[in-house]
Formats: sequence, structure tokens, C-alpha cells
Amino acid sequence: MVANLSAIRNDFPILQRSLPNGKPLVYLDSGASAQRPQVVIDKITEVYEQYYSNVHRGVHQLGDRVTTEMESARTCIQKFIGAEHPEEIIFTSGTTMSINLVAYSWGRHFLKEGDEIILNEMEHHANFVPWQAIAKEQGAVLKFIKLTPEGRLDLEHYQSLLTNRTRLVAVTGMSNVLGTINPITEMARLAHAAGALIFVDGAQSVPHLPVNVDESEIDFLAFSGHKIFGPSGIGVLYGRKALLENLPPFLYGGNMISEVHLNESKWARLPARFEAGTPAIAQAIALGTAIEYVNQLGFDVIAEQEHQLSQYAMEQLQSVPGLEIYGPQELEQRGAIFSFNIAGAHPEDLATLLDRKGIAVRHGHHCTMPLHQLLQIPASVRASLTFYNTTEDIDALIEAIDFARQRLRLT
Ligand code: PMP
Repeated sequence: MVANLSAIRNDFPILQRSLPNGKPLVYLDSGASAQRPQVVIDKITEVYEQYYSNVHRGVHQLGDRVTTEMESARTCIQKFIGAEHPEEIIFTSGTTMSINLVAYSWGRHFLKEGDEIILNEMEHHANFVPWQAIAKEQGAVLKFIKLTPEGRLDLEHYQSLLTNRTRLVAVTGMSNVLGTINPITEMARLAHAAGALIFVDGAQSVPHLPVNVDESEIDFLAFSGHKIFGPSGIGVLYGRKALLENLPPFLYGGNMISEVHLNESKWARLPARFEAGTPAIAQAIALGTAIEYVNQLGFDVIAEQEHQLSQYAMEQLQSVPGLEIYGPQELEQRGAIFSFNIAGAHPEDLATLLDRKGIAVRHGHHCTMPLHQLLQIPASVRASLTFYNTTEDIDALIEAIDFARQRLRLT
């Protein structure tokens, strides 16, 4: 474990609390939504207490300060993902909106009948359904990269799917169920060689792995504030400037125009063109603080902690009778997400019994119905870990699983 883990945990007030049933909280649901450190909570309070007003509008001092803060958050995000220009960072409400923005804005404008979009069955519904909808609307065709038996993308099959009709490859950086980390750079190069664009859903990968959109040749990247230790209601769409400049707006209204006349309007420059209306101001500013926190902690520390936890979790979970973990069993190219079932136990019963012991996990299809259909299971239980988790959290999970197995008469 990293040396200063208890200091890191102290940064997160919610991790110190006990649940109403008196059990200490063991939070293993960061994949659904992570917790936020005190600095992020303080920043939100600071905005509302000291300089809240609307952004990009008034000349008064509050407006000036809040706009400076929001634009400095944008620059912080730009640097964090290795983007060339701050205006390539569009604030959205989250990954889902970022994907819809591109699906509709780009899709309606550029997708023609018979064009092809490449997806795969490990995608979250957020990176699946918008493409399905726009493909239907435009008469485009969806193609799916096969998954290998261990839950990785079959890259040979991917190459065979790329044609001169492929317009876009949409892929997750990390599966929210299997934990699989996808080879984005290689996939981007192959997509570009075929003349296609690549859209990366970074909701799970960006909080855990360093990303450089420039080096990895990523055209579009989406991620959410609430999964990267920031506020909910805020997210990011990165788009390469040359691409964004050629896209029509997605939402129309205030802030996104340069001129409005009775029968026509002209659009503002980037990023305002894609930020119609009043944004989530305090959330955007505090997202910058969350990213500074991650920067200060460093991806080396995050990787070391998550790798050690993953090793321990994998060993311990594999020792539970009847427990099957989905996704790659070796830890290389795998994140700290463990989805599993126990023979004879319904995932909801299991999650409910774990909750009685203070363990917060998620159960269900995790917004990946096609993946669960492929695995031929209706649902699974998911423990998702991050740098603030401990081996004691895993011990508590295993103990609670034991309790659940006894309650369900599986022993
Ligand atoms: N993609 C992936 C891989 C996810 O895990 C999630 C969140 N579960 C999303 C997209 C959607 O993110 P949001 O709900 O924040 O828009």
C-alpha cells in the first residue's frame, strides 16, 4: 500500500463516517460515482460564498472572477488530457451528454446512408444507444468488434471490420464491467489509416489512467466530473479543434451565438458554440480542483495503489467457492473493477446482504445489457475500487460475502 494512504483517506470526509446501522462505510462503488476530497467540497462552497454569478456575461467584479475561475478550470483540464487548445474542452453535463452532442451534431451532418460505425458489446449504454439512434436516423450501419473469451477486444477482427465506409469507431477506454483496458492508441491509428474518426468514452479510464489525446491521436474524448472525484452535473467533451470547428451546434440559445437576426443567426467561436445557456458554474470550477488533486496525487501513486489492491482483490475473490469474475483474469491491462456472480445467489440478494455489513457495491446490468446478454447472465455484482480503498476494505468484502453465502445457505 502507498505510504500515505491514511492521509489520503483523511482527504475524503465521507470515508470517515459510519452508516446509520453503525457499520463503517466500505465504499466499493467508485465506478458508479467516486467520492470527492474536502478541497473539492470547499471549492464549491468558496464559489457560492465568495464570487458566484453568471459567467461570460457581466462586467462586474463577480462576473469577472467567476469567469476567470471557470476558464482556468478549462485550461487545467486541457493540460491534464494533453489537448493543444483550451477551446477544445467543452463543458457538458457528463459523459452521456458529451456522446450525444457528437452523435447528433456530427452524425446528422456527416453520416450518410451505408456509412459504418464500429462499436462493441462491452460499451456502456451511453456509448451505444446514441450511436444506434443516429445510425437508424441516417441509415448508417453498426458493426461490432468481437470480444475474446477473456473479455478483450479482438483486434484482428477489428481490423477486418474497417472499410472505406467506416466513419467512426466508438470505444471505451476501460470497461465498466470487465475492467478491460482497451488499446486506444493502436485502435486510433488503425481507424485513421482507414479514414475514420475515433471517439473514446473515458468515463472509467480518465480517472485511473493518464491520457494524452494528442499522442494517442484521439479525435473525441468524453468523461464525467463525478467519476473523477469532482462534482456531478459536469463533464467534458474534448474534440480536435479542426473537427469541432466544422460541427454544427447541438443546443441552441444564449451564449452560443455571435449574431442573432429575425430569421437567422451566426454561431460563436469555440468553445461557446457548444455551451448554450448557463453552465454548471460551481461544478465546472470544482472539477478543475478535482483534477488538480489527481495531478498532485499523481498517476504513479494511483496506479501503484490500484494495482496492489487489484492483486489482493483478485486473489481473495477467486478463493470464494462458486464465485466467477468476469473479464481478464490477469491483471495486465485491467482496471480495479471486479464484476462477479456466485453460483446460486441472485446479485440483488447478494448486494442487499453486503449492504447490511456496510459494503457499498453495485448490482444489475451496469448499463451494459449487450455485454450481459453475451455473458448469458441477467446481472452481476460489481466492486469498483480506487486509490482510497484499502486491503481492509477487501477483507470486509470477503467477510460480508461469507455472511451472505451463509444467509443464502450456500455453504
Ligand atoms: N461510460 C461508461 C464506461 C460509464 O461507466 C458511465 C457511467 N456509469 C458512462 C459512460 C456514463 O456516464 P454519466 O452517467 O456520468 O454520463
